[in-house]
Amino acid sequence: MRTTVVTDTLTQLTRLRFVNAYLVREDDGFTLIDTGISGGTDDYIRAAEAAGGVITRIALTHGHGDHVGSLDALKAKLGDSVQVLMPELDARIHAGEQIVEGKLPGSWPKLTTTPDVRLKPGDRVGSLEVVAAPGHTPGHSAFLDTRDRSLIAGDTFTTIGSPQVTNHYYWRFPFATMATWDRDKDLESARALRALDPTLLVVGHGGAVRQPGTAMDRAIVSAGG
Ligand SMILES: [Zn+2]
Repeated sequence: MRTTVVTDTLTQLTRLRFVNAYLVREDDGFTLIDTGISGGTDDYIRAAEAAGGVITRIALTHGHGDHVGSLDALKAKLGDSVQVLMPELDARIHAGEQIVEGKLPGSWPKLTTTPDVRLKPGDRVGSLEVVAAPGHTPGHSAFLDTRDRSLIAGDTFTTIGSPQVTNHYYWRFPFATMATWDRDKDLESARALRALDPTLLVVGHGGAVRQPGTAMDRAIVSAGG
């Protein structure tokens, strides 16, 4: 696993070169954003220890397998000391509810962990504000750090090669697009995230982008406006 300190409060944890999770520093420990594919448990716990704390919360951007993959194993290891938070609609999908027509794209592995909290837009997770960003999945959510306006944007954007919206194929990283549920909503969410005027953009797949406004504008234009 590669550990990249992005800011004082944000550390990027990258497995298999392309799959990111994040540690967000809070006064009471770390919030782990996403859990990658399976097999990351010890790496994530060690990364938090190395950064001087423990994981007190696990918040998911969405329910896809490359974001919830290590959730059950982390929960088994951390037990009641960790709170699990998942966007409402994706939590309902994982609970077996049919909330959209037809088959959802992307991988939805069976989870034994039931989230403690179903997140809604405007909810707070420590210093993070939950921002609705549906499209990649029905409940897909981003997290805005209100301390410095860093934006953890999940899979609405990727930043492998250049920043791109996941509503259309991009040869450098087509996988997130293949898993995207509603391309129009995804683009709408990209615009909404841009309008937050973040100082930093981090995503599920790809590196951090500082002062990302222009790059997000460009990505939205090449995504069809
Ligand atoms: Zn995804």
